Amino acid sequence: MMRQYDQAKNACGDALLFFRMGDFYELFHDDAKVAAKLLGLTLTSRDKSPNAIPMAGFPHHQLDSYLAKLINQGHRVAVCDQVEDPKESKGLVKREISQIVTPGTIVDPSLLDPTKSNFLAAACPVEVVTKKKKSSPAEKFTTFGLAWADISTGQFFATLVSRKGLIDLVERLNITEVLLPETPVVSEEFTELKSEMADRAMVTVRPRWAFGLDASETLLHKQFNVATLDGFGLTEFGPATIAAAGAVVEYLNETQKAVLEHIDSIRPFRQSECVEIDSATWRSLEITQTIRGCVRDGSLLGVIDRCKTPMGSRLLGQWFTTPLIELDQIRSRHEAVGELAGNQKLRTDIREYLKGVYDLQRLLARVATGRTSPRDLSYIGQTLGKIPALRETLSDCQSSLLTKLKSELDPCTDLRKELELALVDDCPAQAKDGNFIRDGYDTKLDEVRKLAAGGKQWIAEYQQTICDQTGIPSLKVGYNKVFGYYLEVTHTHRDKIPAEFIRKQTLKNAERFITPELKEYEEKVLSADSQADEREQKIFAELRELVRVQISRLKTNAHIIAQLDTLAGLAQLAADQNYCRPQMVTDSTLMIEEGRHPVLDVMQPLGVFVPNGTSVDEEAGFLHLITGPNMAGKSTYIRQVALITLLAQIGSFVPATSATIGVVDKIFARVGASDELSRGQSTFMVEMTETARILNTATSRSLVILDEIGRGTSTYDGVSLAWAIVEYLHDQIGCRTLFATHYHELTALENDFKGVRNYNVAVREWEEKIVFLHKIVSGSADKSYGIHVARLAGVPKWVNRRAEQILERLESTSEVEHNKEAIKSSVSAQRNGLNGPNGSGEFQLTLFDATHPLIEKIRGLDPNNLTPIKALEMLSEWKQEVES
Ligand code: ADP
Repeated sequence: MMRQYDQAKNACGDALLFFRMGDFYELFHDDAKVAAKLLGLTLTSRDKSPNAIPMAGFPHHQLDSYLAKLINQGHRVAVCDQVEDPKESKGLVKREISQIVTPGTIVDPSLLDPTKSNFLAAACPVEVVTKKKKSSPAEKFTTFGLAWADISTGQFFATLVSRKGLIDLVERLNITEVLLPETPVVSEEFTELKSEMADRAMVTVRPRWAFGLDASETLLHKQFNVATLDGFGLTEFGPATIAAAGAVVEYLNETQKAVLEHIDSIRPFRQSECVEIDSATWRSLEITQTIRGCVRDGSLLGVIDRCKTPMGSRLLGQWFTTPLIELDQIRSRHEAVGELAGNQKLRTDIREYLKGVYDLQRLLARVATGRTSPRDLSYIGQTLGKIPALRETLSDCQSSLLTKLKSELDPCTDLRKELELALVDDCPAQAKDGNFIRDGYDTKLDEVRKLAAGGKQWIAEYQQTICDQTGIPSLKVGYNKVFGYYLEVTHTHRDKIPAEFIRKQTLKNAERFITPELKEYEEKVLSADSQADEREQKIFAELRELVRVQISRLKTNAHIIAQLDTLAGLAQLAADQNYCRPQMVTDSTLMIEEGRHPVLDVMQPLGVFVPNGTSVDEEAGFLHLITGPNMAGKSTYIRQVALITLLAQIGSFVPATSATIGVVDKIFARVGASDELSRGQSTFMVEMTETARILNTATSRSLVILDEIGRGTSTYDGVSLAWAIVEYLHDQIGCRTLFATHYHELTALENDFKGVRNYNVAVREWEEKIVFLHKIVSGSADKSYGIHVARLAGVPKWVNRRAEQILERLESTSEVEHNKEAIKSSVSAQRNGLNGPNGSGEFQLTLFDATHPLIEKIRGLDPNNLTPIKALEMLSEWKQEVES
């Protein structure tokens, strides 16, 4: 048997192996040690010798819970099952690996969060498929083919991304497992990439051949049952994307040991079709999970999700990952939400029907992977049963999206009828439990059931007859797997036992007997029972097949129901929280009246949140500097504006009395260094890297919110950086920007820059304390109130008094004022030096400006180690850079 174990272990790579032995799953060797520690199992051994093999195990019915524990801790688990009946096998029972479960390949509902998609991704560096020979150690991973699939729903997407884009998507899509091709030499580049990924998902390195282009194409043809992939619109992405998609399918085949018919197509993902949100922004806006607890509760999604089905909740999550850019699409969702929000009866009726809808997407995945149950099939039938009523309710709808969804809903009447006729109302979760086919559905099943019932009736009557005959009132007929039917007599009545009773077992208080008559009927009952069982399994297989062939049709229904649920959920939110429909425009307007932070709006008691307006346009300025003491509400305000914009572009109404929003192409949020946990880098470095990304990629259509830039360095450094960043955003990018800062010096920018406006958060001093009014008002804050805030925070009185003395002295020597003036005038003078030669005020970087990236490259050069060829190559590269 250990040889059988070793074979299975060799076949499952680094997965922990659950090896079925009788009623237990056992782990051996190091697996046993790991599992004992992680699962709290007792570590034992098969014998007591010094070389005894360590082992640990658990009862087979606890498989799901132990699997869940290991998967949640980032392990892969292979399950090796007995594939023949031990009673019928000669010699050793045959065993096979039935599945390999990894975080990205879960189908079992008990291991999945119903509200979240569970994506497995593969990233294939372009070099891996384009290089003829094996890649050199110096290979640079800059562009990747990326494909991701949710095996629990059958969704499959692909794209081509930059290295940064790759990390953004892994974060935004909350991908749980990423496949990477192994590299011939583990380069620094690869190690870095791997560790950056590992911060966000489980990384699984696959052999290079799993990313082979030809093999991938063949696999995908087979998977989608097509002769060419042209119809899926992936051509624009090139071979690395095909290779990545192939790697996903190859891995699914290997782990699932099943045909995955529900993955029947792949959709291209084009970043240019949705709002770009980088990973830092995604995290700091707490869209799908909070920064602190990393939980959904308290995040934007957690607070606004009013969906009735898990399919709706997952789709809402996906809408956040891909906010729309196309005006018509956004308006079409707004129109639908508007109709549902404005018609309470329509909304309530739809949501009432949705309550009875099951998770069709995941039910279908289980049908496709051969893991379905009678209960699953019955749920599919019941879900289809809601469709006629849903269609009826939607019949008077006006909005084009709702009308379209209604017309595409397919009642699948034949299938529904069949399932309804065949399955009882309360089906078991496992087919082997039996009794799930309705009486009257199948004549043959009815016949054998009658026989079995007849036999059971006879046995019940027999018990009464024997009781009467023997005069033993407590005599009972019982059944167990070992002896079959038996008569049980307590020792009290031992003397009344007739001679023809055949003794089978003696218990503490009773004895068990059989009789020839009982045996005869037992055979009849058992054989009828087993025939009924066989018949039921056959019918079950037929029903499963009936559903399987309709998977694609049912999947479309599932997607439509999910959309209806998401739209109705957003409408419910709009009605509950008094949201308004935003007017979407194409210019750079951002006008919000009485805007509220969508999370605080729900979490705080009614009336506590102070609404704030926002006016960004040509006249009102597009770059707002917001000053005010800590705790005044600056961060809340700027995030609120970003979240309102985001909500508008996923198709939701927004928490405000009115809003006009010019569609944004990217949203950037940079929060202060100390506000966020950094990932291994110095916080200031993280802050600057993220700022660099904004400055290098934001466009005039973007929305940028900056919260305390430059706080992680010395004051002068910090002010200078913040100052220069504002200038750059204003002159070079011209995007809508809200910049919360405690650097009062920056407020001087308003005088020199047309688009800059100062705002501050109103506070009132009262009896030496300050009261936060949380109201954004025009103008700059007059002082910073830091000492007041420190007092509120409980800093010792002595420190506060002393700080006040120092401040007084500094202010009286007018050092502070002097500094402000000095910064202002010297900065203006310097800036003049950066102006164009004709003094046009045009801000242009020259080659010899110390901040130009080429200067950095030249500084980093070691001419002694350059070959002439390399030098020429670099020159031509730089020329191109300057020209572009
Ligand atoms: P700052 O960025 O100025 O330090 P925050 O935005 O972090 O301040 O706000 C501090 C606290 O004030 C928040 O936790 C929130 O509870 C409260 N707050 C902020 N804005 C408002 C508002 N508009 N209405 C009510 N409470 C608010």
